[in-house]
Amino acid sequence: MRQLIAGNWKMNGISAALVEIEAMSRELSKKAPKCDVIVCPPATLISQAAQIVGGGILIGGQNCDAEPAGAFTGDISAEMLRDAGARAVIVGHSERRRLHGETDPMVAAKTRAAWRAGLFAIVCIGETLAERDAGRANAVCELQHSSSLPVGATPENTAIAYEPVWAIGTGRTPTLEEITAMHAHIRANLGAGIRILYGGSVSPANAREILHLKEVDGVLVGGASLKASDFLQIVAAANVIH
Ligand code: PEP
Repeated sequence: MRQLIAGNWKMNGISAALVEIEAMSRELSKKAPKCDVIVCPPATLISQAAQIVGGGILIGGQNCDAEPAGAFTGDISAEMLRDAGARAVIVGHSERRRLHGETDPMVAAKTRAAWRAGLFAIVCIGETLAERDAGRANAVCELQHSSSLPVGATPENTAIAYEPVWAIGTGRTPTLEEITAMHAHIRANLGAGIRILYGGSVSPANAREILHLKEVDGVLVGGASLKASDFLQIVAAANVIH
């Protein structure tokens, strides 16, 4: 399976930061990566970023509304992202779920909206530390995945990102055994084909060992995707095909 390396810039970056995307693109156009690469800058940079990148990198959004248009002040539809140059969108990130009250049915509706607009959806799931400590990690992820992923998901339109909430932005990662076990659990429910990414404090230092796990089909990277030098090292670590 061709791995997917996706970067989530979150609410970071003004136009000066486009030099990083430019640097990523320049490097990847010299030597085509053996993996798929998506960078998701803030919505304000999508249009400019999409014009900068050549082949080798796709630009994505970090969220979309479920509706195509209408009286939803401040929201951005999947169609608008596509029109701005995005080819993918992250949906159901734990920060959206926690800070914006997004529920599984809302995430499912956003995923359908992404497909409607012709965007590749990266659907995020993951347990909190309290849920893991209570032995509920598998059950929580199973429920999130079955309720956030609508019928119609295919390897061409969707990837799942398993992101334990306690590993995001904390520098703390699950053990390789924990990642393997959760990915195997999700795979058993998901069936073959759709890529399952790991996300949570992936860095140049740990990317290789995570990406060499045969259950891991790519990574979703937050902080370490902001600098071309870090992100390119992670992309290089993915140059393996299981
Ligand atoms: C994320 O935002 O999806 C993420 C995994 O962040 P970080 O890599 O910074 O933990």
